[in-house]
Amino acid sequence: MPTLEAFTAWMQDFARTIAEHSEHLTDLDRAIGDGDHGSNMARGTARCAQLADDQTFAGPGDYLKKVGMTLVSTVGGASGPLYGTFFLRMATSLAEVEDPGPEQLGTALEAGVQGILTRGRAEHGDKTMYDALAPALESYRQAVADGGDLAGALAAAAKAAAEGRDATTDMVARKGRASYLGDRSRGHLDPGAASATLLLESAARTLP
Ligand code: ADP
Ligand code: MG
Repeated sequence: MPTLEAFTAWMQDFARTIAEHSEHLTDLDRAIGDGDHGSNMARGTARCAQLADDQTFAGPGDYLKKVGMTLVSTVGGASGPLYGTFFLRMATSLAEVEDPGPEQLGTALEAGVQGILTRGRAEHGDKTMYDALAPALESYRQAVADGGDLAGALAAAAKAAAEGRDATTDMVARKGRASYLGDRSRGHLDPGAASATLLLESAARTLP
């Protein structure tokens, strides 16, 4: 089961992956937004990846709380507060838990996604990160209910996120900057759904 070390590895892998995909994320955001999603996320995740070098943490909850606060204060844009809320809610859910099992991690992920919903008020099909995260959570839950282990559940979540991300191409944006484009937002992949998929792919590589 993932301990603090696995969660720090998650953030380090996520930061590396975001850095690798930064230009792609920015290109996606240039098409339907203001072209800053890659640089916003690269700045924030790089800072998160360093946290464990600079200080010690009592456990996953303590660490994820700092990750959330760091993302809120460094990413900016619409996505900073949304990703920040995701991790802050996960942190609350995992407070005092040393090594969450698949069920506990599922509850924490659900709390995180719920936080994004509360903050951003997106619905299914609005062409946002929620369209990657919601199917990911559902697939994770299903895999655990079917008796799958953490590795299987996270792999299922990452696959569902990628499918959800790809489905945003045909959607018309109803939230965030992309919504200003109306019908012209159709035909482009949502940048936040792309970065959210990278987050789950990182989780599948590092948490089990
Ligand atoms: P900004 O739009 O302020 O420049 P970013 O470019 O960093 O911020 O992030 C844009 C992404 O944020 C979008 O692709 C979308 O996935 C996500 N997003 C924007 N508004 C919302 C919202 N209300 N709910 C969920 N996600 C949102
Ligand atoms: Mg932007």
